[in-house]
Amino acid sequence: MRENREILSIVIPACNEAGNVTRTARALREAMEAEHISAAVYFVDDGSADGTWEEIRAAAGQWDRVRGLRFSRNFGKEAAIFAGLQAAAGDCCAVMDCDLQHPVEALVRMYRLWEQGFEVIEGVKEDRGRENVLYKGMSALFYKLMSAAAKIDMSRTSDFKLLDRKAVDALVSLPERNTFFRALSGWVGYRTATVGFTVQERQIGQTKWSTWKLMQYAVTNILSFTTKPLYLVVGAGVLFMILAIIQGIDSIVSYVTHRAVEGFTTVILIELIIGAIVMFSLGIIGGYVGKIYEEVKGRHRFIIAGTVGLPGREERGDDAL
Ligand code: UDP
Ligand code: MG
Repeated sequence: MRENREILSIVIPACNEAGNVTRTARALREAMEAEHISAAVYFVDDGSADGTWEEIRAAAGQWDRVRGLRFSRNFGKEAAIFAGLQAAAGDCCAVMDCDLQHPVEALVRMYRLWEQGFEVIEGVKEDRGRENVLYKGMSALFYKLMSAAAKIDMSRTSDFKLLDRKAVDALVSLPERNTFFRALSGWVGYRTATVGFTVQERQIGQTKWSTWKLMQYAVTNILSFTTKPLYLVVGAGVLFMILAIIQGIDSIVSYVTHRAVEGFTTVILIELIIGAIVMFSLGIIGGYVGKIYEEVKGRHRFIIAGTVGLPGREERGDDAL
Protein backbone atom coordinates (compact mmCIF):
# COMPACT_ATOMS: atom_id res chain seq x y z
CA MET A 1 0.00 0.00 0.00
CA ARG A 2 1.21 3.43 -0.88
CA GLU A 3 1.11 6.14 1.69
CA ASN A 4 -0.63 9.29 0.62
CA ARG A 5 1.94 11.75 1.81
CA GLU A 6 4.87 12.39 -0.49
CA ILE A 7 8.10 11.39 1.21
CA LEU A 8 10.56 11.34 -1.66
CA SER A 9 10.55 14.14 -4.26
CA ILE A 10 12.44 13.31 -7.42
CA VAL A 11 13.59 16.39 -9.32
CA ILE A 12 14.31 15.87 -13.01
CA PRO A 13 15.66 18.72 -15.15
CA ALA A 14 14.57 18.16 -18.73
CA CYS A 15 15.63 20.06 -21.81
CA ASN A 16 14.43 18.64 -25.13
CA GLU A 17 13.71 15.25 -23.65
CA ALA A 18 10.34 14.58 -25.33
CA GLY A 19 11.37 11.00 -26.07
CA ASN A 20 12.45 10.32 -22.50
CA VAL A 21 9.80 11.78 -20.21
CA THR A 22 7.28 8.97 -20.51
CA ARG A 23 9.93 6.25 -20.19
CA THR A 24 11.47 7.90 -17.17
CA ALA A 25 8.13 8.46 -15.45
CA ARG A 26 7.14 4.86 -16.11
CA ALA A 27 10.44 3.45 -14.86
CA LEU A 28 10.20 5.53 -11.70
CA ARG A 29 6.59 4.59 -11.08
CA GLU A 30 7.35 0.88 -11.42
CA ALA A 31 10.32 1.06 -9.10
CA MET A 32 8.63 3.25 -6.49
CA GLU A 33 5.52 1.09 -6.38
CA ALA A 34 7.54 -2.12 -6.24
CA GLU A 35 9.65 -0.74 -3.39
CA HIS A 36 6.67 0.86 -1.60
CA ILE A 37 8.23 4.29 -1.63
CA SER A 38 5.83 7.21 -1.55
CA ALA A 39 7.36 9.46 -4.18
CA ALA A 40 6.47 12.33 -6.48
CA VAL A 41 8.34 13.28 -9.64
CA TYR A 42 9.04 16.92 -10.49
CA PHE A 43 9.90 17.45 -14.12
CA VAL A 44 11.38 20.87 -14.81
CA ASP A 45 11.10 21.75 -18.47
CA ASP A 46 14.11 23.96 -19.09
CA GLY A 47 12.86 25.83 -22.16
CA SER A 48 12.57 22.82 -24.44
CA ALA A 49 11.90 23.42 -28.10
CA ASP A 50 10.38 19.99 -28.71
CA GLY A 51 7.26 18.45 -27.19
CA THR A 52 8.74 17.91 -23.72
CA TRP A 53 6.08 19.98 -21.96
CA GLU A 54 3.23 18.12 -23.68
CA GLU A 55 4.88 14.85 -22.63
CA ILE A 56 5.13 16.05 -19.03
CA ARG A 57 1.44 17.01 -19.04
CA ALA A 58 0.54 13.64 -20.51
CA ALA A 59 2.64 11.86 -17.87
CA ALA A 60 0.88 13.91 -15.16
CA GLY A 61 -2.42 12.76 -16.59
CA GLN A 62 -1.36 9.14 -16.34
CA TRP A 63 0.18 9.22 -12.88
CA ASP A 64 -1.03 11.65 -10.22
CA ARG A 65 2.47 11.74 -8.70
CA VAL A 66 3.92 13.62 -11.66
CA ARG A 67 4.37 17.36 -11.28
CA GLY A 68 5.73 19.74 -13.86
CA LEU A 69 7.29 23.19 -13.98
CA ARG A 70 7.97 24.95 -17.22
CA PHE A 71 10.56 27.70 -17.62
CA SER A 72 9.86 30.65 -19.88
CA ARG A 73 13.13 29.89 -21.71
CA ASN A 74 16.29 27.84 -21.25
CA PHE A 75 17.87 28.87 -17.94
CA GLY A 76 20.27 25.93 -17.64
CA LYS A 77 20.39 22.73 -15.64
CA GLU A 78 21.48 24.40 -12.39
CA ALA A 79 18.43 26.69 -12.44
CA ALA A 80 16.19 23.72 -13.25
CA ILE A 81 17.58 21.74 -10.31
CA PHE A 82 17.00 24.62 -7.90
CA ALA A 83 13.49 25.30 -9.22
CA GLY A 84 12.65 21.64 -8.63
CA LEU A 85 14.15 21.65 -5.14
CA GLN A 86 12.16 24.78 -4.29
CA ALA A 87 8.90 23.22 -5.43
CA ALA A 88 9.56 19.81 -3.85
CA ALA A 89 7.48 18.96 -0.82
CA GLY A 90 8.96 15.63 0.30
CA ASP A 91 11.00 14.82 3.40
CA CYS A 92 13.89 14.13 1.08
CA CYS A 93 14.65 15.12 -2.51
CA ALA A 94 16.56 13.33 -5.20
CA VAL A 95 17.94 14.90 -8.35
CA MET A 96 18.47 12.77 -11.43
CA ASP A 97 18.75 13.14 -15.21
CA CYS A 98 15.85 12.65 -17.56
CA ASP A 99 17.68 10.24 -19.87
CA LEU A 100 17.85 7.30 -17.44
CA GLN A 101 21.64 7.53 -17.39
CA HIS A 102 21.25 7.57 -13.63
CA PRO A 103 19.89 4.12 -12.76
CA VAL A 104 16.63 3.94 -10.83
CA GLU A 105 18.01 1.02 -8.86
CA ALA A 106 20.73 3.33 -7.44
CA LEU A 107 18.02 5.82 -6.44
CA VAL A 108 16.37 3.10 -4.38
CA ARG A 109 19.70 2.36 -2.67
CA MET A 110 20.06 6.07 -1.90
CA TYR A 111 16.60 6.13 -0.40
CA ARG A 112 17.40 3.18 1.84
CA LEU A 113 20.50 4.98 3.10
CA TRP A 114 18.36 8.04 3.85
CA GLU A 115 16.02 5.81 5.86
CA GLN A 116 19.05 4.72 7.85
CA GLY A 117 19.70 8.32 8.83
CA PHE A 118 22.09 9.66 6.19
CA GLU A 119 21.25 13.21 5.12
CA VAL A 120 23.28 13.77 1.98
CA ILE A 121 23.71 10.80 -0.33
CA GLU A 122 25.97 11.42 -3.30
CA GLY A 123 25.88 9.41 -6.50
CA VAL A 124 29.44 8.54 -7.46
CA LYS A 125 30.30 7.44 -10.99
CA GLU A 126 32.02 4.08 -10.98
CA ASP A 127 32.41 4.14 -14.69
CA ARG A 128 32.11 7.39 -16.62
CA GLY A 129 30.53 5.66 -19.60
CA ARG A 130 31.62 6.40 -23.14
CA GLU A 131 33.39 9.73 -23.48
CA ASN A 132 35.93 10.89 -26.01
CA VAL A 133 39.58 11.64 -25.22
CA LEU A 134 39.26 15.43 -25.39
CA TYR A 135 36.24 15.34 -23.08
CA LYS A 136 38.10 13.10 -20.61
CA GLY A 137 41.15 15.38 -20.65
CA MET A 138 39.14 18.56 -20.18
CA SER A 139 37.01 17.14 -17.42
CA ALA A 140 40.13 15.81 -15.66
CA LEU A 141 41.61 19.34 -15.65
CA PHE A 142 38.36 20.89 -14.48
CA TYR A 143 37.93 18.41 -11.65
CA LYS A 144 41.53 18.91 -10.52
CA LEU A 145 40.84 22.61 -10.07
CA MET A 146 37.46 22.06 -8.50
CA SER A 147 38.77 19.37 -6.16
CA ALA A 148 41.49 21.73 -4.97
CA ALA A 149 38.89 24.43 -4.39
CA ALA A 150 36.25 22.29 -2.73
CA LYS A 151 38.88 20.25 -0.87
CA ILE A 152 37.11 17.02 -1.80
CA ASP A 153 37.69 14.63 -4.68
CA MET A 154 35.24 15.83 -7.31
CA SER A 155 36.36 13.65 -10.19
CA ARG A 156 33.63 11.05 -9.85
CA THR A 157 30.85 13.21 -8.49
CA SER A 158 27.64 13.80 -10.40
CA ASP A 159 24.39 15.73 -10.05
CA PHE A 160 22.71 12.48 -9.06
CA LYS A 161 22.01 12.90 -5.34
CA LEU A 162 19.48 12.46 -2.61
CA LEU A 163 19.21 15.13 0.07
CA ASP A 164 17.35 15.30 3.34
CA ARG A 165 14.85 18.16 3.81
CA LYS A 166 17.37 19.94 6.08
CA ALA A 167 20.01 19.99 3.35
CA VAL A 168 17.45 21.04 0.71
CA ASP A 169 16.26 23.93 2.87
CA ALA A 170 19.85 25.00 3.43
CA LEU A 171 20.54 24.93 -0.30
CA VAL A 172 17.42 26.74 -1.49
CA SER A 173 17.89 29.46 1.11
CA LEU A 174 21.33 30.37 -0.26
CA PRO A 175 21.09 33.87 -1.73
CA GLU A 176 23.70 33.26 -4.45
CA ARG A 177 22.63 32.99 -8.07
CA ASN A 178 25.68 31.35 -9.60
CA THR A 179 25.35 27.97 -7.98
CA PHE A 180 27.21 24.74 -8.55
CA PHE A 181 24.93 22.06 -7.18
CA ARG A 182 27.47 19.28 -7.50
CA ALA A 183 29.87 20.90 -5.07
CA LEU A 184 27.34 22.77 -2.90
CA SER A 185 25.67 19.58 -1.72
CA GLY A 186 29.01 18.66 -0.14
CA TRP A 187 29.49 22.18 1.19
CA VAL A 188 26.31 22.05 3.32
CA GLY A 189 27.80 19.17 5.31
CA TYR A 190 25.52 16.77 7.27
CA ARG A 191 25.86 13.00 7.51
CA THR A 192 27.04 11.96 4.10
CA ALA A 193 27.10 8.64 2.29
CA THR A 194 27.92 7.71 -1.29
CA VAL A 195 26.30 5.31 -3.69
CA GLY A 196 28.30 4.02 -6.64
CA PHE A 197 26.59 3.74 -10.00
CA THR A 198 27.52 2.97 -13.56
CA VAL A 199 26.58 5.67 -16.04
CA GLN A 200 24.10 4.12 -18.47
CA GLU A 201 24.12 4.79 -22.18
CA ARG A 202 21.72 7.49 -23.31
CA GLN A 203 19.02 5.66 -25.28
CA ILE A 204 17.05 8.51 -26.82
CA GLY A 205 18.02 12.01 -27.86
CA GLN A 206 21.41 13.64 -27.59
CA THR A 207 23.59 15.09 -24.89
CA LYS A 208 23.01 18.83 -24.45
CA TRP A 209 26.66 19.51 -23.90
CA SER A 210 28.98 20.59 -26.66
CA THR A 211 32.68 20.92 -25.82
CA TRP A 212 32.34 24.71 -25.94
CA LYS A 213 29.34 24.68 -23.59
CA LEU A 214 31.22 22.41 -21.21
CA MET A 215 34.20 24.76 -21.17
CA GLN A 216 31.93 27.69 -20.35
CA TYR A 217 30.27 25.60 -17.66
CA ALA A 218 33.67 24.74 -16.17
CA VAL A 219 34.85 28.36 -16.12
CA THR A 220 31.56 29.59 -14.65
CA ASN A 221 31.68 27.01 -11.92
CA ILE A 222 35.28 27.66 -11.03
CA LEU A 223 34.58 31.40 -10.80
CA SER A 224 31.45 30.90 -8.75
CA PHE A 225 32.89 28.40 -6.33
CA THR A 226 36.44 29.51 -5.60
CA THR A 227 38.75 32.50 -5.58
CA LYS A 228 41.86 30.34 -6.13
CA PRO A 229 42.55 31.71 -9.65
CA LEU A 230 43.11 35.14 -8.09
CA TYR A 231 46.18 33.71 -6.37
CA LEU A 232 47.55 32.93 -9.83
CA VAL A 233 47.54 36.68 -10.45
CA VAL A 234 49.37 37.30 -7.19
CA GLY A 235 51.80 34.47 -8.03
CA ALA A 236 52.53 35.94 -11.45
CA GLY A 237 53.09 39.33 -9.81
CA VAL A 238 55.62 37.91 -7.33
CA LEU A 239 57.45 35.97 -10.04
CA PHE A 240 57.74 39.03 -12.23
CA MET A 241 58.92 41.18 -9.35
CA ILE A 242 61.79 38.74 -8.75
CA LEU A 243 62.66 38.74 -12.46
CA ALA A 244 62.44 42.54 -12.49
CA ILE A 245 64.89 42.83 -9.58
CA ILE A 246 67.40 40.50 -11.29
CA GLN A 247 67.06 42.29 -14.62
CA GLY A 248 67.22 45.68 -12.86
CA ILE A 249 70.47 44.84 -11.09
CA ASP A 250 71.95 43.54 -14.34
CA SER A 251 70.97 46.73 -16.18
CA ILE A 252 72.46 48.99 -13.49
CA VAL A 253 75.71 47.00 -13.44
CA SER A 254 75.91 47.25 -17.25
CA TYR A 255 75.30 51.00 -17.07
CA VAL A 256 77.94 51.58 -14.41
CA THR A 257 80.54 49.46 -16.19
CA HIS A 258 79.76 51.30 -19.46
CA ARG A 259 78.88 48.12 -21.25
CA ALA A 260 76.55 49.03 -24.07
CA VAL A 261 73.04 47.75 -23.40
CA GLU A 262 72.21 45.44 -26.23
CA GLY A 263 69.20 43.30 -26.77
CA PHE A 264 66.30 44.84 -28.57
CA THR A 265 64.90 41.31 -28.86
CA THR A 266 64.98 40.95 -25.08
CA VAL A 267 63.00 44.16 -24.65
CA ILE A 268 60.37 43.04 -27.14
CA LEU A 269 60.10 39.61 -25.51
CA ILE A 270 59.76 41.03 -22.03
CA GLU A 271 57.07 43.42 -23.19
CA LEU A 272 55.14 40.67 -24.90
CA ILE A 273 55.32 38.35 -21.90
CA ILE A 274 54.33 41.08 -19.46
CA GLY A 275 51.53 42.16 -21.78
CA ALA A 276 50.22 38.60 -21.92
CA ILE A 277 50.41 38.12 -18.16
CA VAL A 278 48.67 41.45 -17.50
CA MET A 279 45.89 40.60 -19.94
CA PHE A 280 45.48 37.13 -18.47
CA SER A 281 45.32 38.57 -14.96
CA LEU A 282 42.81 41.19 -16.02
CA GLY A 283 40.74 38.41 -17.55
CA ILE A 284 40.67 36.50 -14.28
CA ILE A 285 39.83 39.60 -12.25
CA GLY A 286 37.25 40.59 -14.88
CA GLY A 287 35.65 37.18 -14.53
CA TYR A 288 35.07 37.80 -10.84
CA VAL A 289 33.87 41.35 -11.43
CA GLY A 290 31.35 39.92 -13.89
CA LYS A 291 30.14 37.45 -11.28
CA ILE A 292 29.80 40.22 -8.69
CA TYR A 293 27.80 42.22 -11.24
CA GLU A 294 25.48 39.27 -11.86
CA GLU A 295 24.98 38.65 -8.15
CA VAL A 296 24.42 42.33 -7.33
CA LYS A 297 21.76 42.69 -10.01
CA GLY A 298 19.84 40.04 -8.14
CA ARG A 299 17.84 38.87 -11.13
CA HIS A 300 15.63 35.84 -10.85
CA ARG A 301 17.41 32.60 -11.49
CA PHE A 302 14.51 31.42 -13.62
CA ILE A 303 10.99 32.42 -14.65
CA ILE A 304 8.21 29.89 -14.43
CA ALA A 305 5.77 30.03 -17.33
CA GLY A 306 3.48 27.22 -16.28
CA THR A 307 2.98 24.31 -13.91
CA VAL A 308 1.08 21.06 -13.86
CA GLY A 309 0.04 18.84 -10.95
CA LEU A 310 1.39 21.18 -8.29
CA PRO A 311 -1.09 21.43 -5.43
CA GLY A 312 -2.01 24.99 -4.58
CA ARG A 313 -0.64 26.39 -7.79
CA GLU A 314 -2.73 27.61 -10.63
CA GLU A 315 -2.10 25.85 -13.91
CA ARG A 316 -1.37 28.38 -16.54
CA GLY A 317 0.60 29.19 -19.62
CA ASP A 318 0.20 25.88 -21.38
CA ASP A 319 -0.72 27.52 -24.64
CA ALA A 320 1.91 30.23 -24.52
CA LEU A 321 5.34 29.87 -26.17
N1 UDP B 1 19.51 19.69 -19.06
C1 UDP B 1 18.76 20.81 -18.71
N2 UDP B 1 19.10 22.03 -19.24
C2 UDP B 1 20.15 22.19 -20.10
C3 UDP B 1 20.93 21.04 -20.43
C4 UDP B 1 20.58 19.82 -19.88
O1 UDP B 1 17.81 20.72 -17.95
O2 UDP B 1 20.38 23.32 -20.55
C5 UDP B 1 19.15 18.38 -18.49
C6 UDP B 1 18.90 17.28 -19.52
O3 UDP B 1 17.58 17.30 -19.99
C7 UDP B 1 19.19 16.03 -18.72
C8 UDP B 1 20.29 16.48 -17.78
O4 UDP B 1 20.22 17.90 -17.73
O5 UDP B 1 18.08 15.58 -17.97
C9 UDP B 1 21.65 16.02 -18.24
O6 UDP B 1 21.86 16.44 -19.58
P1 UDP B 1 22.59 15.54 -20.66
O7 UDP B 1 22.07 14.14 -20.60
O8 UDP B 1 22.48 16.25 -21.96
O9 UDP B 1 24.08 15.60 -20.14
P2 UDP B 1 25.14 14.39 -20.03
O10 UDP B 1 24.41 13.23 -19.40
O11 UDP B 1 25.55 14.10 -21.42
O12 UDP B 1 26.22 14.94 -19.16
MG1 MG C 1 22.74 12.42 -20.02
